[in-house]
Amino acid sequence: MMLLCNATAITWQPARVESTDLRIRGDTIVERGPRLTPRGEQVVDLDGRVVIPGMVCAHTHLYSALARGMPPPAAPPRDFREILEKVWWRLDRALDLDMVEASALAGAIDAVSCGTTTIFDHHASPCAIEGSLGRLRRGIEPAGIRAVLCYEVTDRGGPEGARLGLEEHRRFAPDARFRLAVGAHASFTLEAATIDAIAGLARELDTGVHVHVAEDPVDASPIGRLRPVLGPRTILAHGTHLTPDEVREAGDCWFVHNPRSNMNNAVGYARHLPAKTALGTDGIGADMFAEARFAFFKARDERATPRVLEMLQAGQDLASAYFGRPFGTLAPGSVADLAVLDYDPPTPLAADNLAGHLVFGMDSRHVSRVMVGGRFVTRESGERMASAREHARALWKKLE
Ligand SMILES: [Zn+2]
Repeated sequence: MMLLCNATAITWQPARVESTDLRIRGDTIVERGPRLTPRGEQVVDLDGRVVIPGMVCAHTHLYSALARGMPPPAAPPRDFREILEKVWWRLDRALDLDMVEASALAGAIDAVSCGTTTIFDHHASPCAIEGSLGRLRRGIEPAGIRAVLCYEVTDRGGPEGARLGLEEHRRFAPDARFRLAVGAHASFTLEAATIDAIAGLARELDTGVHVHVAEDPVDASPIGRLRPVLGPRTILAHGTHLTPDEVREAGDCWFVHNPRSNMNNAVGYARHLPAKTALGTDGIGADMFAEARFAFFKARDERATPRVLEMLQAGQDLASAYFGRPFGTLAPGSVADLAVLDYDPPTPLAADNLAGHLVFGMDSRHVSRVMVGGRFVTRESGERMASAREHARALWKKLE
């Protein structure tokens, strides 16, 4: 048991800012209110510090942790397909299982340092498929965060690659920290029969599908082809080039907006995403403060309405859907996943100006402590990053 006293508890949607105490038992918040009486548990006085629900990154690729600062290809990619062919599909083919584990550890440590406690990963290592989800788990575990894993099934490596990708999901046993989705690359690299097999596997494993959708015009009109995998737990990343009609056709799927990645790849702006849209980084780290800020400024630049609080809350709701428990409420019954921020604002902080503080003030540099499942997790990286750098060097050499 633990009692967090004198917290300024913030939740995103409905926006709420409240001075309160939080009592935690096991991995759950069991009581919330001012001046709770200690009952012999450990008492942590937060002295008014901000407490937010641990951030959720709804779409990422941990393997890209080893790509930071990687030398670019000799001839610069001219479009999105060339970005895949010259950069990401070369990189993922060069990954071995040790590199997969090292990238997961580096990415998970990075996440926790930013107050991100749950990540939805989309993994590919076509020359090291078998055992890759287990090695991802082994990499993530020391950082203490939660993850929803999947292997990106695709026909770009032929039918045997697709079969191994599907099978890899069956080797993975979910638990309290780790859940499974069924991964799929994107409509344009999947045969219709493979899409049917993915849908069948998701039904068998009682989960949703995590797939890229219309990130670029190369993935044209994917919703009709993906109909077998659509459903209330399916996660559609990007949706950049969907029309309002196609978004409606996707029904009650989750969408994930990745503004930094979309800007970096110059694929356009995801203008028509529905209310059920969370935020992801698409492999550009796991800093959701930064991603939210880009979502805000990109929306402003496009003369669209920014919805950053709603998107952060949607990430929490997505985690609730996968873990089967409430996330993101900091209320009794919610998981005790949270971040403490040393955020000392120069202006009043209240529910009605929370978005302003999120976009113009709060930052991952304010994260001072992170709790997952009722336990504070370490934010030390030390030797682990040195090991990641060794693996990155080996990976880059393979790509020369
Ligand atoms: Zn992606």
